[in-house]
Amino acid sequence: MKNKENACREEDEKLKNKLKRKIVRVCRIMLKENLNINPFGNVSCRLGKRILITPSGMSYEKMRAKDVVEIDLEGKSYGGKPSSEYRMHIEIYKAREDVKAIIHAHPKYATAFAVSRVGIPVFLEEIAEVVGSSIEVSKYALPGSKELARIAAEALRNKNATLLANHGVVCVGDSLEEALDILRILERSAEIYILAKIIGNPYVLDDKNVKKLREMYLKYKSDVNENV
Ligand code: 13P
Ligand code: ZN
Repeated sequence: MKNKENACREEDEKLKNKLKRKIVRVCRIMLKENLNINPFGNVSCRLGKRILITPSGMSYEKMRAKDVVEIDLEGKSYGGKPSSEYRMHIEIYKAREDVKAIIHAHPKYATAFAVSRVGIPVFLEEIAEVVGSSIEVSKYALPGSKELARIAAEALRNKNATLLANHGVVCVGDSLEEALDILRILERSAEIYILAKIIGNPYVLDDKNVKKLREMYLKYKSDVNENV
């Protein structure tokens, strides 16, 4: 019995450390791919009833897996100072059972839309496929505030990405990989939208095709996963 318990605990520790390393990797990828700037943004994922989240204000080059903070859904830390946006992450997880990972970032092109308070419509197939809907601007609130947590959770109730007015973006997914893919597509779409505006007027896809594209993509994704 004791051995079984110990083995379970060891497995839990292994999983926790694996996820912490993945969070650090995602942070580094964001820097490398110009999706964020130091030391802004924050990344988290679920670990059972708890959350693993990046520490507050730490540069991503310096960050190590051991710096990632474990908190519960009440915001209690089990060592270390969690991101100042921990309330936002908690509120989103509480509102969305299906969400397993969250990325908040300050990417250049998408933030240009957030400061102009202009949403990004579904004008590109990739938005329909990967994000699943248009990306709207949520109301302004100060960073780290309870108000921002409430506003972001509300905006993400039935969307996988939102633009935080005058601030940045939040993307959610069923894994860290999916949240990162959504961030990539969001930033790329924002850049393409600006270019398309210079050329002419981006054509927005109709709802029927958006729905179809999303369904086709989800099927393609599950087929790919089955083949792994
Ligand atoms: P933290 O460093 O506390 O995560 O804050 C960064 C940020 O982007 C706040 O909105
Ligand atoms: Zn921020």
